Amino acid sequence: MRSISQRPDLYCINTATLGFKTSLSEIIDECAKRGIAAISPWRKELEESRPQDILRKLKDCNMSISGLCRSTYYTAPNQTEREAAINDNRKALDLAAELECSCYVQVVGSLSGYSKDLEDARSQVKKGIQQLLEHSRQVGVRIALEPLHPMTTADRSCLSSLRQALDWCDELDPDGYYGLGVAVDVYHVWWDPDLYSQIKRAGKRILAFHASDWLVPTTDLVNDRGMPGDGVIDIPLIRSWVEDAGFDGLIELEIFSHNNWWNKNIASTLDVSIERMSKFC
Ligand code: ZN
Repeated sequence: MRSISQRPDLYCINTATLGFKTSLSEIIDECAKRGIAAISPWRKELEESRPQDILRKLKDCNMSISGLCRSTYYTAPNQTEREAAINDNRKALDLAAELECSCYVQVVGSLSGYSKDLEDARSQVKKGIQQLLEHSRQVGVRIALEPLHPMTTADRSCLSSLRQALDWCDELDPDGYYGLGVAVDVYHVWWDPDLYSQIKRAGKRILAFHASDWLVPTTDLVNDRGMPGDGVIDIPLIRSWVEDAGFDGLIELEIFSHNNWWNKNIASTLDVSIERMSKFC
């Protein structure tokens, strides 16, 4: 297991952590000042500037983009909307390629309309990913399936565990090309009794590692994530499993926190982030 204490060159900041109130350009400057290796931005943030300008700025700062966040949901009440979602995701892959992102992160969607048919939702997602995979090979950007905590199954993700994500990888990308892999986000998978065995199984399919902490009590199903050290997840243990499985990428901090971290200024959040990642990741 790598020593990552005071190694911002091994850290990535998911820009969600900073509350979507600052331009990407300013975020890159603040991260670069601290020696942080990469960011994972959101597509809506990239609409404000030309991709080539962002890429040039990152290169000038000796930084890169880890994952591009995130997919348009694949599930929809009708075929027209599902096809529109796939086209949208295809465009996002082009953007990810232009920005030289290491992967395109997938939050897949779930029940749509008034459906109660989870199996159907899962099948819609798999069909969508399958159609996208060929494009991912062409543009050279890998697709990272991110299983979300089961509490989000109704509205955000019918993909709820690492085992399920790896089953989909084996089914849709059986030839070992590894165009399809997984993002292991500790917030979503820490509870899973199969976590160790599934991380071992994942091996080189692990394309991203996201860190944050589970607060007790948690007050919001999406936007109350804790800074590492403030909750109950043994992040270093999970990181040791991921690295034993062969992952040697960046440690990404991803926090959604509308009542706490999003209210602070980004310089102080970045300083705390480095300190906490050093001690608790
Ligand atoms: Zn994540």
